[in-house]
Amino acid sequence: MACDLFALQNIEADKGFAIPRRRTASSRRLTLGAALGLALAAGGCGSGHASSASSTPAPAVSAPAPAVTTATSTTTTTATTTSHRTVPRRIAHVARPAGPLRGKVVVIDPGHNGGNAAAPDAINRLVPAGGFMKACDTTGTATDAGYNEAEFNFDVALRVAAILRREGAHVVLTRSSNDGVGPCVNERAAIGNRAHADAAISIHADGAPASGQGFHVIEPALVAGYNDAIIAASARLGGILRDEMATGSGLVPSTYLGHDGIDVRGDLGGLNLSAVPKVFLESGNMRNPHDAGLQTDPAWRDRLAHVIAAALTLYLTGPARS
Ligand SMILES: [Zn+2]
Repeated sequence: MACDLFALQNIEADKGFAIPRRRTASSRRLTLGAALGLALAAGGCGSGHASSASSTPAPAVSAPAPAVTTATSTTTTTATTTSHRTVPRRIAHVARPAGPLRGKVVVIDPGHNGGNAAAPDAINRLVPAGGFMKACDTTGTATDAGYNEAEFNFDVALRVAAILRREGAHVVLTRSSNDGVGPCVNERAAIGNRAHADAAISIHADGAPASGQGFHVIEPALVAGYNDAIIAASARLGGILRDEMATGSGLVPSTYLGHDGIDVRGDLGGLNLSAVPKVFLESGNMRNPHDAGLQTDPAWRDRLAHVIAAALTLYLTGPARS
């Protein structure tokens, strides 16, 4: 048979045959009867009694999707060449099962903000950064052609958020647009802390000499009394992200900084003040022509987002999470 063929016919009937606005009682009965016939035929699909479906005209019906739990029938007279599908069609009509990240909270921090450059007083004011004071925020970098890092970061963050939400995660962004100012670095950390995030990531791109290329992950250095509790977990997250980036992003581990795509820093308020596992990602060097070519390509940014999301998913679903 072809429970599948039947299902396809039914779908097409739903799409292609509008129910007449005015119908006679007999036509209603006919339609209802046809629907009933289809439903019965569908019910018999798995037990080899579905041949009547092939001779039933496709009316405008809203018969329930066939409750097919197996697809073993091969007695069809009309669709012997149709391949069998073992997935019941009704799956399309029920809520998708919760994704692997159900119950997980992820904070995504797109670095900088599009309005920072126009608000020097606001972003230059000093804020606590983990035992010292530091500027609230910075403007970030840009490609030689003028593609701004803040815009890049925000674009990638939205793509990552969409993927993780589809997987069931609760995602919090540290900013909701690219035309504002800040938030300050201490507030970016606080957002992750208040959310009790299972993982947090700051998304950036670097502005280094043009001869250097590649990505690097920044893990928190121990700043005693501040981030003691997140060092081990952040290192694990950073290692997973580095591995995923090295194999999936098309960027090489940084040729100019860190070691094998990992850098460890104690001067970043966003890491020093985090109470949840957190890393920064520098997604290539915007001053390098190769990296900039990727960063300005929306298709590559989507690829990057999938790599980041995959790393977070591996971290959040993997063993020995601390
Ligand atoms: Zn940055």
